[in-house]
Amino acid sequence: MLEPLFLNSVLQNKIWGGTRLNSVFGYDLPSDKVGEYWAISAHPNGVSTVANGEFAGRKLDELWANNRELFGNVKGDVFPLLTKILDAEDWLSVQVHPDDAYGLKHEGELGKTECWYIIDAEPGAQIIYGHHAKTREELTQMINDARWDDLLTKVTVKKGDFFYVPAGTIHAIGKGIMILETQQSSDTTYRIYDFDRKDDEGNLRELHIKQTIDVTSIPGTLSAQEPTITQVEGSTLTTFVQTPFFNVDKWVVNGELPLSMDEPYQLVSVIEGNGSIVIDENKWDLTKGQHFILPNTIKEFVLDGQMEIIASTPGK
Ligand code: ZN
Repeated sequence: MLEPLFLNSVLQNKIWGGTRLNSVFGYDLPSDKVGEYWAISAHPNGVSTVANGEFAGRKLDELWANNRELFGNVKGDVFPLLTKILDAEDWLSVQVHPDDAYGLKHEGELGKTECWYIIDAEPGAQIIYGHHAKTREELTQMINDARWDDLLTKVTVKKGDFFYVPAGTIHAIGKGIMILETQQSSDTTYRIYDFDRKDDEGNLRELHIKQTIDVTSIPGTLSAQEPTITQVEGSTLTTFVQTPFFNVDKWVVNGELPLSMDEPYQLVSVIEGNGSIVIDENKWDLTKGQHFILPNTIKEFVLDGQMEIIASTPGK
């Protein structure tokens, strides 16, 4: 049967988390410090489970291992993508991620290129996105001297903005921001600076200065990529990025929107509104906060309603 794989997934407590994953998306929270919903994940630190249909109860990592036909029989040891929603009640640590070569050599997993769609932001909310050091020596010196204001590039963000964050980019999501993150399936983070915060036990979180200096890109300035926007009847399709790691689109659905799938499989997140998806005369209701995978068996589908959706496919 041609059916989407709706997913139940794992929430993660974080020192910087809050409660908006409940108030905005309705997820049941285990605490009042929830930072991340790993909405579509086969990473061992939080694996999604199929909620419906023939594959109900199956874990995404196990489906990837044993039912690769659902994913177009593409190669790869691990399901390569991870979709998260993050609620930053406070600043995340200033951090950087390795590329695949460094990650596999030092951490035994892929590196992490990621990207962010800003779901919501308080007025004036900021991110850290890149740095000003001109050489590795200067980077080392500025970190050792804790010259954070001189080193780090701050950018004010608003709802609807999109940021591509390649491995090697120094970055942090700021207080009052909610994002949908599409990333490589990796959980390796090198912390540079954590605002000298202590956890509930009074401990500072570990920093990784040597690794940071190893993997940070120099120069550390980034330029915005122009999205491609297409109108289809009343709906708007935006392609934010096409990269070797993932392709990310936003679909603003207004009425009926027939789409075809050209990629081996697709990850879909409803971030606003509600409606439905029709596949081969079967219909499923869709609502804000749902996440699903369209497996390879599905070539055409019709969305209907008033919805904002972030969709991603694997890179090539
Ligand atoms: Zn990160």
